[in-house]
Parts: sequence; C-alpha cells; structure tokens
Amino acid sequence: MRKVALVFVLAVFVPSLVLAWLAVRSLRDQQFLIERQQSLLWQGVADRVAKDVQDALAQYQHDFATQVAGLLRERSPQELANVFDQTLRPNWPLAQVGFAVTLSGNILSPAPQAQRDAQKFLQDNRGFLGNLESAEVYLNQRQSFNIPLAAEQQAPASVQMQAKTEGAARVKAYQSPSTRNVIPLQSSALGAAKKDEALADKEQAISKMAPAPAEFRQLIADEMEGTLARFVDNKLSVLVWCRPAREPQIVFGAQLSLPRLEESLRPILQQVEPGLREEICIAVLDDTAKPVALSEAGFQAANWKRPFVASEIGEALPHWEAAIYLLNPAKLSESARTLKLTFGLLIAVLVLAIGAGSWLIVADLNRQLTLARQKTDFVSNVSHELKTPLTSIRMFSELLAEGRVADPAKQHCYLGIITAESARLTRLINNVLDFARLERGEKKYDFQACDLAAIARETAESYRPHLEANGFRFEVQLPETPLMVKGDRDALAQVVVNLLSNAEKYSDACKEITMRVEPGSAGGGSASVLILDRGMGVPSGAEEKIFEKFYRAHDSLNSGIQGSGLGLTLARQIAQAHGGDIFYSSREGGGSCFSLRLPVS
Ligand code: ADP
Repeated sequence: MRKVALVFVLAVFVPSLVLAWLAVRSLRDQQFLIERQQSLLWQGVADRVAKDVQDALAQYQHDFATQVAGLLRERSPQELANVFDQTLRPNWPLAQVGFAVTLSGNILSPAPQAQRDAQKFLQDNRGFLGNLESAEVYLNQRQSFNIPLAAEQQAPASVQMQAKTEGAARVKAYQSPSTRNVIPLQSSALGAAKKDEALADKEQAISKMAPAPAEFRQLIADEMEGTLARFVDNKLSVLVWCRPAREPQIVFGAQLSLPRLEESLRPILQQVEPGLREEICIAVLDDTAKPVALSEAGFQAANWKRPFVASEIGEALPHWEAAIYLLNPAKLSESARTLKLTFGLLIAVLVLAIGAGSWLIVADLNRQLTLARQKTDFVSNVSHELKTPLTSIRMFSELLAEGRVADPAKQHCYLGIITAESARLTRLINNVLDFARLERGEKKYDFQACDLAAIARETAESYRPHLEANGFRFEVQLPETPLMVKGDRDALAQVVVNLLSNAEKYSDACKEITMRVEPGSAGGGSASVLILDRGMGVPSGAEEKIFEKFYRAHDSLNSGIQGSGLGLTLARQIAQAHGGDIFYSSREGGGSCFSLRLPVS
C-alpha cells in the first residue's frame, strides 16, 4: 500500500506541484507580457499614423508639381518664375512662400521687396538656394541604409529627402546620429530581450534621422521633384520643389505653411479605428515635443516626452513623432493583476482538485486493498471455523460409533458436544449464506408482529446449556409485558445468537453474561435487547469498524479466537432492515455492551 501511495505521489502529485510552481512563476511575467502585447499593438498604430503623415506629405509634393504644371500651361517657365510667389500662394493655400531659382543659384522669385514672409524666406535661404552655403538637411538613415544600431558612428548622411539608396552616393559627409525628442515608456519592454532597460532606452533615444550638410545644387542633382526639410534658427522649414521638363534649369519650390500643414494632419488621426481610439490618444508631436494634432481634443499628457509608444514620422518632418498615450494607464496593470489573480486561483483550484483526487484515489485503493486482505483472511478464518467443529464432531461420533465409550454419562456428554458443534457449524454456515444473500440483495424477511421479549427468552434458553456447560454465569432480565415489534422471528433470533456467541467468544477469565430486554418509553419509542459481558472489550478506535464486513478487531493469529468477521455485519444489516440498529458501548468495569434497538409497533 505504501508503495502504491509513493508511486502515486511521485508520478502524479509531485509533477502536478512542479507544473503548478512553473505556472505560478510564469504568472509573474504576465504584466510584462500584457504590456508587450499592448505596446506591439499600439506601436503598429503609431507606425501607421507616421506612415499616413508621410504619405500625406508625398501627396502635397505631388499636388505642388501638379499646380506648377497647371500654371505652366498658361505661361512660359521664365514668365512664371518671375511671378511665382504671388501666383502660387492664392492657388495653393499650403504654400507660405513660393520660390523659383535657377540651378546656377539665381533667385527669380520672390522679389526682394515682396511680402514679409517672403522677405524672411529670402533672408534665411538666400545663401542656401544660391549655392553659396551648405545647409543641414535630414535623412532617414536606417531606412535608406539599413544601419545597425551598433554601427551608429558610421552612419552616412544624405541630402536628398526622396532619395533612397542612390541618394547616399551624392553626399560624402558622414554625421553622427541625432537624438529623439521623446523616449517612449515601452522602449524598455520592447527592448527587454536585451535585459537592460537603460540600454533599451538609449537605443530608443537615437533618431532614425541624421542631419547632413549639403548644397542646394547637390540636393537637386538630376531629380525632377522632391521635399527638403531643414532647421533655420531652430525652426523647421519644409520645402517642396519640382523642375519642369520643358525648362529643367529652373527649380520651382514652396515653403509649406506649418500651421496649415498641422491642420491638414488632424483628419489622419481620426482614421484610426474607433475601438482602438477608446483606449488611447494619438498625437502628432513637433520637433519640440509639443502636440500639434490630437485624436482626443483636450487630452493632457503628464509628460508629452514620455508617450507609451511613438514612431518618428520621417525625414520630411524630422524630429516629429506620432505618439500614443494611454487614456487610462492604470488599466494595463489592473488587467494584468486580474489575469494574475484569475490564473492564480485556477492553479490553486487545479492543485487542490489534483490533491483531493489523489487523496480519494489513494484512500479508495487503501480500502480495496484492505478489503482484499480481509477477504483472504475471511476464507482462511471460515475454513478454520468449519474445521474445528467438524474435527470434534468426527472424533466423538467415531468414538461412539466404534463403541469405545461404555459409560452412558460420557456418551451423553459426547452427544451433547456433537450437537453443540453441529449448531455452531449451522450458525456459521447460516451467517455466510445470509451474508451472501444480503450482498446480492436477495435476503427476504417474513415480517410479522412478534414479541421481542419472547424471541430473546427462547433464544437465550436454547443457548443457556451451551454457555453453562462452558462455565458461564448467564443472567437474563426480561420485562413482564410482551414487547411487540414487527419483524422476522428467525432473523431476530439470529441477531441475538450472534451477539451471545460473541459475548462467549470474547470473554476470558470472567465468564459472566447478562441479557437484558428493555421496553421503550411509554407509548412507543424503541425496545432494546442488551447483551453484556465482562470480556476483553473492543479496542478503542475499532468501535464502528467492527460492524464492517470481514473486519476483526481480535484476529485469530493473536487472540486465538476463531471468527469470520461477518456476525456483527449481518446483525446490523438485519437490525437496520427492521428500522432499528445495533450499538456498541464499553462497560464500566470492563467488558462490552451490545444493544439491539428496534422500533416498537
Ligand atoms: P467474528 O466472527 O470475528 O466474531 P463479528 O462480526 O461477530 O466477527 O465481530 C467482529 C469483531 O468485533 C470481532 O472480531 C471482535 O474483534 C469484535 N467483537 C465482537 N463482539 C465482541 C465482544 N463481545 N467483545 C469484544 N469484542 C467483540
């Protein structure tokens, strides 16, 4: 049994505990996993917004080229160039200033005496457009050259915004990368594979864009249209330009009005699915990390520089970011906590279920094994019990049959022994047969109104000679009036015989048996037949077990007392079939008291 329990513990319980422990450990990472999932989701949204803004800028560049083409249908390139600023602005509201410049650096428009914006534009860009000085322009270094972060020192810079790989060839200058304005909170989670949050933050802080010095002529090269972004006095200036195929020597361009550009970006933020927008606020941040467009009007971030995730918009709007802020930052840890709690409870319930199941299985196994052992004992006990009376019967009957006993008193005594032993045999066989019948549910009772006192008296009197022959003092106390019960006479007599037989078997030195029949309380209740002895009593802890089938509190080996372990089982089953029961209690001064209680009819 211990072996089975050990195997069970090793094969089922311990692995379950180990699995539960692993599951509990993995729970600790739940918050990180949820944050990671969320950050991947929101990063996707931020990337999409950044891409949409880029596409919008590309569209403006294309719109500008279309505008120029339209204007050139009415005038010659030369004519248009001279009046380009004042012609373009009314036609294309996104333009703050329109300019025309020859490749040789001759600025044709705006005129020096033009409006204030144009004068400021000329002041800022004269040297650059006239190819007199180079200016720092921006390039998406990772996108164009796929530069690994570790190789950041070798990051090349280019000048052409639209340029992909060929752009790199035009610029020789190499520049170290610039830093981002924002550090997304989730940079640590996304870079967590590196197990170093500081390092992840540092990597996130490096901008994809690198400024590189270049001259206007170099930038144009042989491209026909493009966009340029540069900072003048720390203020972003976005220029779109194109060259007419008819007159490629003239470059037409426009400086975009940033307020109008910002306004035109707002609808892009509204395109994100409403379901996603319920949890986040999407913002377009300018190069000072100031929000210029928001998906949730009136949203205020605790720190605009620490969004949940962010994505750089690109070289056309350097240092601008599409940033995502959580509307309810506590929700993430709340859902992680709920998930942890749910899984924790589930694990606990599973472990408990496995524990309880294991315990039940082991207990059942234990019971089955005990039963199997008891059955084996039963077979040997019954065989032994059969053998003892049979041996006596055979021995005395042989003596008598061979006429070797001449003394009539002895003959009488031997015949008495044979009768008693046959009765014992009959009792035993009856018990076994009855038990088998009860087990199969075939036992039939012949219920009739009968006098319990009379049954007890008759059974006691028939048993008395046997007891007295064995040296017992047998006292019977009966009520004066009959005790009517509804029952099967033979079955009830069998119960009384079993109890008397036990009292006889389990008495040692003090051979005293008392049978008392007690009526119930007046007008009903239950009548009792008590059989009391001064024997060895039932060991403590076994008081209920003795009524289980095959159970023997005094086994034959140790006590030398024969038995099948069925007598009390049968007696209790009969009593219960009569609506009553049998109880054991120990007696003061030693011995046992068994009481058969039956309802009085
Ligand atoms: P058995 O054939 O072993 O006597 P029973 O079902 O009649 O089977 O009794 C079950 C066990 O109860 C016995 O083995 C014995 O240990 C205990 N027992 C029964 N009657 C008495 C008694 N009068 N005194 C002490 N122990 C008893």
